[in-house]
Amino acid sequence: MPSSTPENQQVESSASPLDILKTLFGYDSFLKGQEEIIKHIISGRDALVLMPTGGGKSLCYQIPSIIRPGIGIVISPLIALMQDQVDAMRQIGVKAAYLNSSLTANEAFQIEKQMLSGEIDLLYVAPERLLTDRFQNLLRQIQPALFAIDEAHCVSQWGHDFRPEYIQLSILPHQYPDIPRIALTATADTATRREIIAKLQLADAEHFVFSFDRPNIRYRVMLKNNAQKQLLDFIRWEQADNSGIVYCLSRKKVEKTALWLCEHGYTALPYHAGLDTGVRQRNQRRFLQEDGIIIVATIAFGMGIDKPDVRFVAHLDLPKSLEAYYQETGRAGRDGQDAIAWMAYSMADVILLRKMLESSDADENRKWIEKRKLDALLGFCETPQCRRQVMLSYFGEHLEKPCGNCDICLEPIETWDGTIAAQKALSCIYRTGQRFGARYLIDILLGNSNERIFRLGHDKISTYGIGDELTDKEWQSVFRQLIAINLLDVDVEGFGGFKLTEKCRSVLKGEQKVFFRKDPVAQKLNKKSKIKTSSITFETTEDKTLWESLRQLRKDIAKKQNVPAYIIFHDSTLQEMVIQRPGSMMEMENIPGVGDTKLHRYGEQFLEVLLSAQKRPN
Ligand code: ADP
Ligand code: ZN
Repeated sequence: MPSSTPENQQVESSASPLDILKTLFGYDSFLKGQEEIIKHIISGRDALVLMPTGGGKSLCYQIPSIIRPGIGIVISPLIALMQDQVDAMRQIGVKAAYLNSSLTANEAFQIEKQMLSGEIDLLYVAPERLLTDRFQNLLRQIQPALFAIDEAHCVSQWGHDFRPEYIQLSILPHQYPDIPRIALTATADTATRREIIAKLQLADAEHFVFSFDRPNIRYRVMLKNNAQKQLLDFIRWEQADNSGIVYCLSRKKVEKTALWLCEHGYTALPYHAGLDTGVRQRNQRRFLQEDGIIIVATIAFGMGIDKPDVRFVAHLDLPKSLEAYYQETGRAGRDGQDAIAWMAYSMADVILLRKMLESSDADENRKWIEKRKLDALLGFCETPQCRRQVMLSYFGEHLEKPCGNCDICLEPIETWDGTIAAQKALSCIYRTGQRFGARYLIDILLGNSNERIFRLGHDKISTYGIGDELTDKEWQSVFRQLIAINLLDVDVEGFGGFKLTEKCRSVLKGEQKVFFRKDPVAQKLNKKSKIKTSSITFETTEDKTLWESLRQLRKDIAKKQNVPAYIIFHDSTLQEMVIQRPGSMMEMENIPGVGDTKLHRYGEQFLEVLLSAQKRPN
């Protein structure tokens, strides 16, 4: 018998979930909800888990798969990520494998053989494969420990990620009534949740619903004013060497922005549906495996990006809705460390999105819903209130106090009584026939000499030249905010002219006051302001050097094994090593994220780097 290294040691099925958390995963305690869910599944009952990204969903099926007899079957639509998930499990000594279309027939056959001979505890499988006769036949010959349905929102036709095969997963409770099912998603909106429950027959399952707040993500939203430069400043001052995602609306802009960042010395790779599959896969792979890569992408990039150490998500264009914004920004800071969601937007973005919506082939009802969603997003951008409060309340949650971790909380926005300005703007729109956009209206309000104004006789109306108490920029802000608070509609079928809404009546009559916020750009976000950098910072240069040596070692090991660096150790684990400076294997074992197997495999090498740093004179 080989000596009992952690790699081949069998975990006793009598081990408690906490034992497994400690010995295999190297963590001391469960995150909120995990233990309860794990015990529920171990006892053989079904569960629906609604938890935000980074909440720790994977453990909720991984630990029961290890403890319950048989093989945990994890259904996931993310073929590209299965390899990483399996690698991560194998690194900590769990017998995991995957079956999907990327394997050759022979490789798949080998996995099936191992399943039959009890050499696998956890199997990741694509839904289309699960439903094949061959796999169904295999399932009958083994004992499933559980079925985990990951990314369960794929069953919903309303979402972006609909997968028809997911609907057929409703056969599972009929074929395997005694095997627990756990469906998991990070989708926050209630319509999708309802659909998951109905389609996957989870009405009788226990529903575990958690707050969708992501406290470690700092939201920062600003007006565009040379957006590329704003982005570059942000990256340069706050995110140098960090991994991040930059979202753009069009493929062309993706290419352009990536190139531009490269010219400024960053490693930025494009990702969009128009690129060759090979290039796309290579770029995604590099983003996952290497440190400090920026991916510039359309929304084609995203679902299930498991990389835990994405430090920022930047939007150079507005997303379509708050739901989309939440999902996209949610890819930052999965590891719980500080991260930033950064966005620059403009009025032109809003009008473009409205036009795209209007010209789509969606039915009228759908268009109406989408338009409301876009309005809510604009409201979020223009709010003078804590952004987290606005966002969570949109998802039906109530956050008692302002969060203290968004731009509004950190750099409070001043507001001003804009009732008179609003009245002037609204009546100017009314008197010119509700046909014109901001540029023309502002020229009238400021009394600018504009040939078109003279030609149309608009220099004769009462609002000509009555607005010189505000600057051009301030009037732009007024018009934007009038849209955001629904006093104006944009005529997207015509030339983008503004129309008054029903709500205007009380403002024009003077029955309702209007408050505007001062634009944050005008107040200038100062580099040395209270907003501190989100990247990992260290007290001394010595710490920083040590951190870099540890990262280099991690990179070398990862490269040799052809796995992403974070699979060896997370940033947070390396950071703890820098802080705690373990001096022995015993101390090393106490570092969060260092379980038995990893201690055995890598402990000595990392210890060596730590000890040699201590010897070095200051
Ligand atoms: P989700 O699937 O919900 O987005 P993950 O399962 O990927 O979340 O976990 C998010 C991060 O939290 C991962 O980096 C994971 O290693 C870490 N994590 C999970 N459970 C714990 C725990 N009990 N203690 C510390 N870290 C944890
Ligand atoms: Zn806030």
